[in-house]
Amino acid sequence: MNPLENALTQLKQAAHILHLSPESLQALATPKRVIETAIPLLHDDGVLRYYRGYRVQHNDARGPFKGGIRFHPSIDLDEVRALALWMTIKTAVVDLPFGGAKGGIAIDPAMLSSAECERLSRGYVTAFADCIGPHKDVPAPDVNTNGKIMAWMADQYALLSGQNQMGVVTGKPLAYGGSHGREAATGLGGLYILDELQKLNGFTPNETSIAVQGFGNVGFHFVHYAYKAGYKIIAVSDSNGALYNEKGLDITAVVACKNEKGTVTAAQNCGRNISNEELLTLGTDVLVPAALENVITPLNAENIKARYIIELANGPTTAEAEAMLGKKHITIVPDVLANAGGVTVSYFEWLQNLSCEYWSEDDVVSRLKKRMHEAFLSVWQRHKEMGIDLRTASYVCALERIIAAMKVRGSLQ
Ligand code: NAD
Repeated sequence: MNPLENALTQLKQAAHILHLSPESLQALATPKRVIETAIPLLHDDGVLRYYRGYRVQHNDARGPFKGGIRFHPSIDLDEVRALALWMTIKTAVVDLPFGGAKGGIAIDPAMLSSAECERLSRGYVTAFADCIGPHKDVPAPDVNTNGKIMAWMADQYALLSGQNQMGVVTGKPLAYGGSHGREAATGLGGLYILDELQKLNGFTPNETSIAVQGFGNVGFHFVHYAYKAGYKIIAVSDSNGALYNEKGLDITAVVACKNEKGTVTAAQNCGRNISNEELLTLGTDVLVPAALENVITPLNAENIKARYIIELANGPTTAEAEAMLGKKHITIVPDVLANAGGVTVSYFEWLQNLSCEYWSEDDVVSRLKKRMHEAFLSVWQRHKEMGIDLRTASYVCALERIIAAMKVRGSLQ
C-alpha cells in the first residue's frame, strides 16, 4: 500500500469517530506547503549531478513545523507527504508545541564519500533555507542521516543567515548544540512504552521474548535498553538479514560483531540466520518493526504470532494488515505514540538552544519518561472509554488538540 493512502486511511478512521465534516477532514489532510526541487551535487570526480529533494510542511497550527530528513534512493513525494502527516499527529500526541513536516533526498548515501555527503547536506539547506528556521520549520535526523549531517546543516544555515541559530535543526552532536539523550531517545522512549504495557498486563521481562527488525539508531538503542532491563531478545536484523536464537541472543556479542563486521547477521556464534520476512512471523511475545514502512501487509499479517507490536518505524503496518491483526486481538502501539521519544528530546534540544542553557542527561531522561507516560495514559484512556484501537485513540487525542488550535486561529470552523 502506498504510505500516503495508509496515512489518509488512518486519518479518515479517526475523523469518522470525531464526526468531522468533509471540509475539516480535507483541511487536516492537505499539506500547507509541498516543495520539490533538484539539488546539485558536485561529485569527487568533478561531475555535477542533480538529486530530487523534498520538504513537505504539513501543518503548523500548534507551532513550527517539525520533522526529519531522510536520505534514501526510493524516497518519493507520497512517502514524504505521509511521513509529514504522521509528524503532525505525533507532535500533538505527545503535546509538543510543534506541527509536522518531513523531507529527504532521493539518493543512496552509501555511494557517497564523506566530502560528497557534506556538500549534499549543505545543498539541502541552501535549497530550503527560505522555509526552515528555529521558529518556522525545524528538521532532524531520520533514515540514513545523523548528528554529523545535522551539524553540517546547522552550520550551513548559520553561514547563509549570518547568525548562529542552533535551534534550526535538532539531533546535532553534543559539541554543537546537541542534547544529552537525543541519539538514544526514540529507542528509550520505545522501552518506556513497553514498560507501560508490562505494568498493565503484568508480564515479566525475562519471560517476555522480543524480535526487532532494524538495527540502526532506533532498533539498536531499543535493543540495548530492553536487554539491559532483562527482556529476552530472540531476534534482531538489518538490511542483510536477521539473526535468531529462541533462548535469547547475547546482545553484547551481537553489537561487537555489528561494529566489527557491519552486520548483525555475521554473529553466527550467537544464533542462526533467518530472513527479515521470517523474523516478522516468529513466535514472539513482542514484535518491534524499527526499519522502514510497509513491512506488515496482508501478505504476512495472517502469519504474525506476536501478542504486541510496538511500531518504532514510521508506518510499518498497512491499514488492511492492521484490520487483520485486530481480528487476531494483537495489540499494536502505533508509531505516532511508540516512536515519539525522538521528537520529544528534539523538542528538549530546541528549548535548550533557544534558552542557551544545557540540561543534564538525568534531567532529559526523566522529562522523556514523564512525557511518554502522560501520552500513553491519555491514549489508553481514550482507547478504553471509546472502545477504539490504540492508533485511532492516538489520532483522536492528537486531532482534538490540532482542531482546537486551528479553530482559535480561524483556519477551521
Ligand atoms: P537508520 O538508518 O539508523 O537504521 C535503519 C535500519 O534498518 C538499519 O539497521 C538498516 O540496516 C535496516 N534496514 C534497512 N532496510 C531494511 C530492510 N529491508 N529490512 C530490515 N532492515 C532494514 O534509521 P533509524 O533512524 O533507526 O530509523 C528507523 C525507522 O524509525 C524509520 O522508519 C524512521 O522513520 C523511524 N524513526 C526514527 C527516529 C529517529 O530518531 N531516528 C524517530 C522516529 C521514527
